[in-house]
Amino acid sequence: MAKQIALYDTTLRDGTQGEQVNLSAEDKLRIAQKLDEFGIQYVEGGWPGSNPKDARFFEMAQKVALKNARLTAFGSTRRADINPEEDQNIRALLGTETETVTIFGKSWDLHASEILGVSLHENLSMIEETVAYLKGRDREVVYDAEHFFDGYKNNPDYALETVRAAARGGADVIVFCDTNGGTMTHELQRILEEVMPQLTVPTGIHAHNDCGLALANSLTAVQAGAVMVQGTINGYGERCGNVDLISVLGNLQLKMGYSCIEPEGLRRMTELSRYVSEVANMPPLKERPFVGKSAFTHKAGVHVSAIQKRPAAYEHMEPEEVGNRRRVLVSDLAGKSNIDYKTREMDIKLGGNGYDNKKIVQEIKRLEDEGYQFDAAEGSLELLIKKVTGQFEEPFTLESFRVTIEKNRSGPSTSQATIKISVGDDHEITAAEGDGPVNALDNALRKALNKFFPQIKEMGLVDFKVRVIEGSDGTGAKVRVQIESRDSREIWSTIGVSENVIEASWQALVDSVQYKLSKELNGPREKREKQASNEETTTADSPAQGELRGVLSG
Ligand SMILES: [Zn+2]
Repeated sequence: MAKQIALYDTTLRDGTQGEQVNLSAEDKLRIAQKLDEFGIQYVEGGWPGSNPKDARFFEMAQKVALKNARLTAFGSTRRADINPEEDQNIRALLGTETETVTIFGKSWDLHASEILGVSLHENLSMIEETVAYLKGRDREVVYDAEHFFDGYKNNPDYALETVRAAARGGADVIVFCDTNGGTMTHELQRILEEVMPQLTVPTGIHAHNDCGLALANSLTAVQAGAVMVQGTINGYGERCGNVDLISVLGNLQLKMGYSCIEPEGLRRMTELSRYVSEVANMPPLKERPFVGKSAFTHKAGVHVSAIQKRPAAYEHMEPEEVGNRRRVLVSDLAGKSNIDYKTREMDIKLGGNGYDNKKIVQEIKRLEDEGYQFDAAEGSLELLIKKVTGQFEEPFTLESFRVTIEKNRSGPSTSQATIKISVGDDHEITAAEGDGPVNALDNALRKALNKFFPQIKEMGLVDFKVRVIEGSDGTGAKVRVQIESRDSREIWSTIGVSENVIEASWQALVDSVQYKLSKELNGPREKREKQASNEETTTADSPAQGELRGVLSG
């Protein structure tokens, strides 16, 4: 049977020490429940002694029953020269009523004497007494040996003494921490090989990524005998972050034959990674191993024709095993085989209106020359192919819109948009405000469409990017707007290009809404073909363009 390794998540504590990561107590509870459902064994909720938000989180968490995970509270060893029961922070730890408590203490002599300012002997007592006190209160105790590797390099005997003190206190697991993330993998391996045989307590690893080695260090520690890996989802954390638990899981369970979670759970890895980035409001990293949007994405024509014969030619594993999917990009680098692959994937028939794969490649090259970039806008690409081949029915038509921006000497500027659309014979006029002209337009469009297409409510904006691009023929500069949207099932990108930023944003907004609707609204092909022959192929020329230019320049 595969050896079991416990995953210990500290996204809610170490992860929130990442520069841009901010989680409310409610966000933390949502993530904790998600981690629990996923099958993570330990979820560190926070440091109740350090801030009121974490204290509130534990208060809320007491009312929620977790199915798989043990919630843990984090704190430090007692302060110098007092008893553990007199220490406020330790009382706060016990107050959380978690079954498991994680205590960190100093393994580096420099930290004990220069940062804490205590004698080396007192530091050992602080560790042993704190652990023993918590054990006496019936807690499972995880002991984090902070700076263990730096400490060991500086003074091996003392570093070893500190973890022995934790073991004497009764610690259930001793976790070696590479707190500064500066330990080389070969050093870590040597140190663990020296230390492990001298301990009988189960051990773990807590690695930071300052040298890009957190993952290598964590896997090496497991091979050396560690049975717990601490890390964060997506590797969020102080400075360069912690080890990414998603990558740890993928490697341990899929590549190295260890067992961490139920095998079916692996198919939800991608979902978990994206869920946490969504709640933390961090743009998902495309290149993230296993779960990134680009992890199984092919762009070069040669690669694409090869994977159609055999995916393993350019893939180390099946994307479905981790809930990800294979993607093929289409850009001016692409050949006809990319289009063939793409249209099969999208379930589109080629040849409509005379558009075969060759003519579509030509059309893409023409648009990319104008500034479009379809490898970053698959939603728009799918719509484009459906439109030129007569397989897309426009769900609504824009009659007109107007955007105004008002700014006076002292107040902040305000934006309003009014929009008129038609759906069949129905017309709808709405107005909305926003944090800027594009936001106002987005709000007005959604409001107008809501009545006809309530599923629009599920959509959210992930990212909005504007980029200035040079006109190819020496004409004025254009802007390219790229929007990422999401619903509960997927993330898609759409694009707009124009000399006018509002016009470019409008194109990208409309594409993003149409893409969402196209998933559910495509009628029978004959009907679509009939419609398509009577309608414009793109919404690029909105009647309101002239008006908007007036607003922006005036
Ligand atoms: Zn840490």
